[in-house]
This record gives sequence, C-alpha cells and structure tokens, in this order.
Amino acid sequence: MSDTIERVKCLIIGSGPAGYTAAIYASRANMFPVLYQGMQPGGQLTTTNDVENFPGYPDGITGPEMMIELQKQAQRFGTDVRDGWVTKVDFSGPVHKIWVNETTEIHTDTIIISTGASAKYLGLESEQKYLNLGGGVSACAVCDGFFYRNQEVVIVGAGDSACEEAHYLSKLCKKVTMLVRRDEFRASKIMEARVRNTENIEILFNTETDEVLGDGQVVTGVRVKNNVTGATDEIPATGFFVAIGHKPNTDIFKGWLDMDETGYIINKAGTAHTNVPGVFVSGDAADHVYRQAITAAGTGCMAALDAERYLAAVESETTVAS
Ligand code: NDP
Repeated sequence: MSDTIERVKCLIIGSGPAGYTAAIYASRANMFPVLYQGMQPGGQLTTTNDVENFPGYPDGITGPEMMIELQKQAQRFGTDVRDGWVTKVDFSGPVHKIWVNETTEIHTDTIIISTGASAKYLGLESEQKYLNLGGGVSACAVCDGFFYRNQEVVIVGAGDSACEEAHYLSKLCKKVTMLVRRDEFRASKIMEARVRNTENIEILFNTETDEVLGDGQVVTGVRVKNNVTGATDEIPATGFFVAIGHKPNTDIFKGWLDMDETGYIINKAGTAHTNVPGVFVSGDAADHVYRQAITAAGTGCMAALDAERYLAAVESETTVAS
C-alpha cells in the first residue's frame, strides 16, 4: 500500500474523445477531475489520419491535432491530466480505489472509464515475431506508413479502417495489396469505392494470410491462401498492416463490472451508469456499434453529467444524515 493515499471526487481513465469530453464537463462542474492518459495518450484518434466527420471542422482536422485541442480544452478548465496507467481497481466499497502504475493508490467518489479499445492482430507466430522486432508489422498506417514510402505493402481487413488505411498507404507506397477474407467488403460503400478506384491498390478477395515472410529481421513478403481454391501465392512486401478491428481495454474491470462476451462494459440503457454506483463508462469501452469519435465524445458528456448528479445525490444524503 502507498504511504499517502490521494482522495479525489472524480477520476477519469483514458484520454480519447470520451475521456477529454468527460473532463471538460466534469471540470466545468467543479468536480476537479484527475485524468490518467493511459498507454496511448490521445487514444485511437492519434493513429487516424484526417477526421472529416466530426461536426465543427468543415475542412477536416488530423486525429493528433484534434486530441491536442481536446486536451487543451480540458486543461483550460482545470483538469489535472497525468501520465500513468491504471493497473488495478477495487469497487467493493462506496469509495472506489484505483492503483496507478501498480503503486500509487487513489480513492475517488466517481470514476469515468474511457479506456477505449485496442487493435487486434491475426495472432500468427510470424506476425507477432516481426511485430515485436519492429520489423515491418503494424496496426497503424498513419503511424508507420511513412517508413514504407515507394515500397510495396500488404494490408489485411475489409472494414472502414482497412479501407481508410489502404487509401492512406496508397498515397505513400508504390503498391498496396489488400487481403479480404470474404468475397465482399464490410466497409461502407463510399470507403469501398475509394479503394476500388485507387489504381495502386490491388484487392484480393477470399484471401487469407498464411504466413508473414521475412529474413529474420524484417518482413520481405506475405504468403497468402485463397480459401475457395486453396491456391497459395507469395506477395513481395516490406510492410504488413493489420486492420481487422479492435478489442475493448477493459480487462482490469473484469469481475467488478458487467460486460458482454467480448469485454465491452454494459451500461444501463440511455445512461453512462454501470452496475456499480459511482462508476460510469463512456466511449468505445462500452460501444461495439458506433465507435466514432463523436459518439465517444457524446457518451463522455453523458458520463460526466451522470457522475455530477450521482455526487450531488450522495452529498445531499450525507448532509441530511448529519
Ligand atoms: P470492423 O469490425 O468493421 O471490420 C473488421 C474487418 O476485418 C472485417 O472486414 C473483417 O472481416 C476483417 N477481419 C477480422 N478478423 C480477420 C481475420 N482474422 N483475418 C482477416 N480479416 C479479418 O472494424 P473496423 O476497425 O474497420 O471498423 C470499426 C468501426 O469503426 C466500424 O463501425 C467502422 O464503420 C468505424 N470506422 C469508421 C471510419 C470512418 O467513418 N471514417 C473509419 C474507421 C472505422 P469480415 O468482414 O469477413 O468479418
């Protein structure tokens, strides 16, 4: 246990659009929120290129720029933004306990969980090997695409993320080969049309990754298999991008909060309340349907308002009782 235990009214975990929006509302409501940024300060949007669908930005804005603006807005009203990773929680009592970086213990009346979701990988041994070596496997075209300028790359996935990333890569790379496991896209029609109409993107349908090939240090190609014909082929590539969806970052709350089978936290319908009083959820940690920056921001606002009302009710009960 820590020597001194800090006591706060409102603790926000996560620094994506949900966390910062919750922070803006909570700080303007005098809840003096402390926000822990987590492993990926700024959240998933820092790995996104242009955000064109967030209202108020008619010319678009880059994901990282938007997150810097949101952080500044939260800090302007007094949010205490801190580096740190929440490693453990204890929701057994009326005051909630959290531990940061395994050691620092904080007690809080309310918690707003905005931990988002993380990229999924295929799980192939060769994929993980080159991922860990930093040798050419990535789940973020915007972060890493630059390293593959004028080179040939492969991307897996057929959702909006894969299309967005393939299109982004096509502007940097000589050729992008897109591996689609079914005979159709999952992406919206507009995103699909964008990749279909891009000359240097080749789409291989019914195609799965057999193995990421390399020289022991870096990726040199991908062996693929057609799941209808069984035919295999080797595609030369220096980069292997994975864009197959995300997993909610909710493991530390298992056993305390109600979740679905994937790990998305279940909120009470139409609210940000979880099954534990004083613990609220916002953003992708609870949303497997919309998963947009704007919906995350909206639920961040809801979480702060619900937390404020919860605190007011608890404080008035305490006043009546005393
Ligand atoms: P999705 O879950 O929508 O798509 C995942 C894709 O990966 C699917 O095509 C899926 O194939 C494929 N996939 C999954 N597992 C494997 C595997 N093991 N091997 C090969 N392929 C696999 O995730 P996204 O990240 O694309 O999108 C998430 C949400 O975010 C969506 O709601 C999307 O609309 C939204 N989004 C919106 C954007 C925008 O509006 N600008 C940009 C990016 C995302 P299959 O289809 O066969 O299941």
